[in-house]
Amino acid sequence: MQVEVVQHPLVAHKLTLLRDQTTDSPTFRHLVEELVTLLAYEATRDIAVAPKPIQTPVAPTVGVALTKPRPIVVPILRAGLGMLEGMSRLLPSAEVGFLGLQRDEQTLQAIIYANRLPEDLAGRQCYVLDPMLATGGTLIASIEYLFERGARTVTCICLLTAPEGIAAVRQAVSQRGEVRIVTAAIDEGLNSKAYITPGLGDAGDRLYGVV
Ligand code: URA
Repeated sequence: MQVEVVQHPLVAHKLTLLRDQTTDSPTFRHLVEELVTLLAYEATRDIAVAPKPIQTPVAPTVGVALTKPRPIVVPILRAGLGMLEGMSRLLPSAEVGFLGLQRDEQTLQAIIYANRLPEDLAGRQCYVLDPMLATGGTLIASIEYLFERGARTVTCICLLTAPEGIAAVRQAVSQRGEVRIVTAAIDEGLNSKAYITPGLGDAGDRLYGVV
């Protein structure tokens, strides 16, 4: 499994603003979109393209075009929704699927309560949007689900990650297919409430307000 921390002063700058507890929700949402677009640029570095002959106003030439089947972007509800706009800006032709996960309070396992995805993901490049890779439970369940449906490669875009979550994902899913994680930072770790520290708090609450 490949983990890539995007090193760029603008990424670091926007992440600092996101971490700041005085940043309000509208600004937070806007910054998430911008940050995701920057991360998506790296995350799509290996997106499949094929040669495409075209005619410019001046001469024929051969460029490239995204191949079929189209890549699919999968925001994980709820906080992943806040990342969709930034991703779509870079990849407007991608299909969008949705996964909703919640923790089963008996087993403490992440279970899928909502899914809007094609049955067959064979050969599809999948881009999972989940802002916080903390314990890894949600991401592991999501990746396993996509592999079960035949996905070929899964690239996860996470604003922030914790070493514990990265280790858990690596152990759980590395053998099952090709997984890549693209993030703005790997933080120190998790606190006793499984929040990433220093982190940015609850991403869903900061995007949408506390419900
Ligand atoms: N989810 C969040 O929103 N924040 C964390 O720090 C961990 C999980």
